[in-house]
Amino acid sequence: MALLIQKFGGTSVGNVERIKAIAKRIASCKQLGNDLVVVVSAMGHTTDELTSLAKEISSNPPEREMDMLLSTGEQVSISLLSMALHELGVPAISMTGPQVGIVTESSHGKARILEVRTDRLKALLDQGKVVVVAGFQGTSVSSGGTAEITTLGRGGSDTSGVALATALEADACEIYTDVPGVLTTDPRKVPNAKLMKEVSCDEMLELASLGAEVLHPRAVEIARNYGVTLIVRSSLDNELGTKITNKSEKKIGKEGLELGRPVDGVELIESQAVLALSNVTDKPGVAAELFETLSAGSVNVDLIIQSSHEGNSNDITFTVSQDEIDKAKTLCKDFIKKAGGKLQYEAEMSKLSISGAGIMGRPGIAANLFDTLSREGINIRLIATSEVKVSCVIDSSLGNKAIRAVTEAFELKVSQTSINPSIKNINCPAVRGVALDQGQAQVNVLHIPDKPGIAASLCMAMAEGGICLEGIVQSERQHLDGTRDISFTLKRHDLQLIDHILDPLLSKWPGAKMEEGPSIARVSAVGAGMPSTPGTAAKMFRALAESNINIAMIATSEIRTSCVVSELDGLKALNAVHEGFNLGT
Ligand code: ADP
Ligand code: ASP
Ligand code: MG
Repeated sequence: MALLIQKFGGTSVGNVERIKAIAKRIASCKQLGNDLVVVVSAMGHTTDELTSLAKEISSNPPEREMDMLLSTGEQVSISLLSMALHELGVPAISMTGPQVGIVTESSHGKARILEVRTDRLKALLDQGKVVVVAGFQGTSVSSGGTAEITTLGRGGSDTSGVALATALEADACEIYTDVPGVLTTDPRKVPNAKLMKEVSCDEMLELASLGAEVLHPRAVEIARNYGVTLIVRSSLDNELGTKITNKSEKKIGKEGLELGRPVDGVELIESQAVLALSNVTDKPGVAAELFETLSAGSVNVDLIIQSSHEGNSNDITFTVSQDEIDKAKTLCKDFIKKAGGKLQYEAEMSKLSISGAGIMGRPGIAANLFDTLSREGINIRLIATSEVKVSCVIDSSLGNKAIRAVTEAFELKVSQTSINPSIKNINCPAVRGVALDQGQAQVNVLHIPDKPGIAASLCMAMAEGGICLEGIVQSERQHLDGTRDISFTLKRHDLQLIDHILDPLLSKWPGAKMEEGPSIARVSAVGAGMPSTPGTAAKMFRALAESNINIAMIATSEIRTSCVVSELDGLKALNAVHEGFNLGT
């Protein structure tokens, strides 16, 4: 006998037939002697339909009223499912988020869960009831002490399920959906996507935040942090689906279930070198050729950044281990003879990284890292960001000072710091899955001073304005007046906030200006074995080149490589990369 949390998504409760079918499934699982808490989403596209209704009335409806409206969707499903269970003779009771004790922050629209008060739930389970809980909603206690209904953000029912599993110490949380599990990519976009039996929480977090909507990223964060057994499977058959594996197991701290310290490690990797190629011809195939040349010459490239370009030339910067710099230099010199451009390099660099779950998804963490370094007078040479790691390349003479300051700023223990750790995950696939995010926009901030603290103040301003940055790319190219450019990718709907946030900052820097980039799509490859598999990035760039797709921007982090392409090329790029890594069936 086990205590299971089973979450059924919108399509799984899309009509009365589906509701009756999952009631049967729940009834047989209960009959086997399991204790069950069932979390359900709103039926089909109800949440979208409710949102459209609101938009017909107001372009900017009050957030409180939006939560009041959207939370009704899940209430319809819980009551109907409970009725269906009663019809089958199963003692079931429906509960809203507030009734079941899901307590959240007071912010509307994307509240994080602070606590699940389990007394009522446990009492109902003890009475043998199947508790049917409305996903995606909770209750906050506002400053006046009044309870308010909140929602967790689109796709948030997964997060309700995993939070309940954590609070109840359930044996597993099963997410039932309309696909067989987590696939190598979205099967609606790439028909031959293949089911993965297992994927690690870190890989899943990257995929989920890069566009794989099969799981809400925050659900994966909670599973990773508290060691929840998480499974994604189909509600249409009895196949096993995908297991999301994790290792760490924290206790819920006093900060709140979803607010525990998101940074749980810092590491410094010394003896790094940065090579920067500027003014390289901008056409499909250039990045592929460069990194294939390096890979063929046995140079193992770590971080790669290709920043936005003026005219028709690109800047490509990458890091290698210092003992490979001479080899890399020779290969790059040969390369620029053909492709044009200029080579600069710097040895004696170190890479400082913070790791955790949901780093870029929390505005403020990257900004805090940059701010900590700038307060120590440390200039950041390169930045690499992802959901599980943010890295800064800095001068190696400042490495120890940096790691000390960051350990203190994020309140880490000595056991959570490491210097020059060995490469892990040697036997994992270099690329486990690929994802496409079509809802992205690019913002370039041009002519900003090149000194410590600039990236920090820009990121801090965006964090305070509630914008989650998806990527940050510092340009290598210096203007004649010594200023540089920095580019950000963010969710397209956040663009409307950006002028208002950046104007006060930009007015402090003479000549600085902001420019909205073109509509973009981001295609990403994710795999825990990426750091130990040379040539992975080259393979991705080659796949894009063969489909004649130009790469506007490249940003890598430890277990992911992302390329920004034009919005129109997005789907073609996803298919090319999936095929290029031979991921399909
Ligand atoms: P639910 O309503 O059950 O929560 P969602 O629509 O939120 O379902 O998530 C399931 C959908 O996620 C699938 O129908 C699929 O199109 C999409 N998806 C995107 N990436 C992946 C992936 N890597 N694996 C499986 N499904 C994916
Ligand atoms: N019904 C909500 C949505 O559509 C929550 C969910 O389905 O997870 O976003
Ligand atoms: Mg979903």
